[in-house]
Amino acid sequence: MRILVVEDEQKLAEVLGRGLEEHGYAVDVAHDGEVGLQMAELEPYDLLILDVMLPGLDGYTLCRRLRAGRRNVPVLMLTARDAVDDRVTGLDSGADDYLVKPFAFRELLARVRALLRRDGLSRDPILRVADIELDTVTHEVRRGGQPVQLTSKEYAILEYFVRNPNRVLTRTQIAEHIWDYNFVAMSNVVDVYVGYLRRKLGDHREPQLLHTIRGTGYQLKAPKRVESGA
Ligand code: CA
Repeated sequence: MRILVVEDEQKLAEVLGRGLEEHGYAVDVAHDGEVGLQMAELEPYDLLILDVMLPGLDGYTLCRRLRAGRRNVPVLMLTARDAVDDRVTGLDSGADDYLVKPFAFRELLARVRALLRRDGLSRDPILRVADIELDTVTHEVRRGGQPVQLTSKEYAILEYFVRNPNRVLTRTQIAEHIWDYNFVAMSNVVDVYVGYLRRKLGDHREPQLLHTIRGTGYQLKAPKRVESGA
């Protein structure tokens, strides 16, 4: 999952960026509103963390313009004051949730997870496809009940697949949601990571879940559930 942080306080932006990266997110940072809006329009972010008081363009205006351009990316707004007016203006400009500064990083993480859940069909923090189980809070992964140890990038790729079952995902799509702006795409990096993932998931045997779509990318095929007769 890839997040854009729009925050002009350098120190806070840095702490947020580092903290989110430690939790497996790819993060880009913009320090003013104009740049933030441009980046949000160009890159396929999964979530925006948006400060209200910004140079260039304030957070409310940025959010309104984003929504006017039909961009539905979830937005978590950071407000400096715990005033009803600020919260109402934020939500009415198209934000999905808000946090009042100063906040605990743990709470920010929990709100990020909740917003990312809203996007999909399931509100369950445990994601399941076939016999794969992914705990989005602890990042624990199981296949057939057995724990699978993944690095944070491997986890991020698997989460992206599990959130998009049966969709053919191109290498570019995968790279854009897993790596940040500074990432220089080496042609085979996605293939390399999918290879690691397959090995760790024991996905070499039939029935395979992770399929290579020749010339395009990959697809996590979710077999139709066969209900056992009672
Ligand atoms: Ca600010």
